[in-house]
Amino acid sequence: MSTPGQSRARLEPASGWAPAPDCALCPRLEGFRSANTAAHPEWFNGPVPSFGPLDARLLVVGLAPGLKGANRTGRPFTGDYAGDLLYESLIGTGFARGTYGRRADDGLVLVNCRITNAVRCVPPQNKPTGAEMRNCRRFLAAEIAALERLELILALGRIAHDNVLSALAERRADHPFAHGAWHRLGNGLLLVDSYHCSRLNTNTGRLTGEMFVGLLRDIRARLEPGSKATGGSRHK
Ligand code: SF4
Repeated sequence: MSTPGQSRARLEPASGWAPAPDCALCPRLEGFRSANTAAHPEWFNGPVPSFGPLDARLLVVGLAPGLKGANRTGRPFTGDYAGDLLYESLIGTGFARGTYGRRADDGLVLVNCRITNAVRCVPPQNKPTGAEMRNCRRFLAAEIAALERLELILALGRIAHDNVLSALAERRADHPFAHGAWHRLGNGLLLVDSYHCSRLNTNTGRLTGEMFVGLLRDIRARLEPGSKATGGSRHK
């Protein structure tokens, strides 16, 4: 079994475009990481690396690690409620293979799909500031640029949607957020929005499992060979 520290080294490519494990660009978040490390030294407590193959055609973008989810386990969406819906839905639609065990060493494999967060460090109360989102956007932009086969981005929630647009220098007014809305971006990528798969949204019925799986099925259809929906190659 790997420790959280070993998971970090295993999951992050040594490419230079991901944040360093001790990234200090956001003093508040660095302080929160340190406090969590003191209180829970067995947790991951670092910038959570993206998960999934670098040749993925689909990138799922969330907001930020959850305190007892990704910040604890070291893998996006792993170990909290949102991850249950996300990973089971990815398995059910062929974007993941294996069994989701709510831990980074469960052996789950993403297929043609990668998952990241707009902000890599856990923020207090799940709320990053505007400055923190701007700081971390360089890593989101660099990651999108580095995924050479990327065709489609799934934004989980309005804040992820806004950060993707800003990372790609798109005007937010041209692409209003709405669940199930598709946006053709200037560089040829396709952005699709979903309500975040949080407990709040599912408990209130704003997002159901059927809605989420239905959207992933639509994404799969768009990525089918011969589909015109993705519009072919992207421009960088
Ligand atoms: S949120 Fe991003 S930019 Fe801020 S400290 Fe963490 S890794 Fe660095």
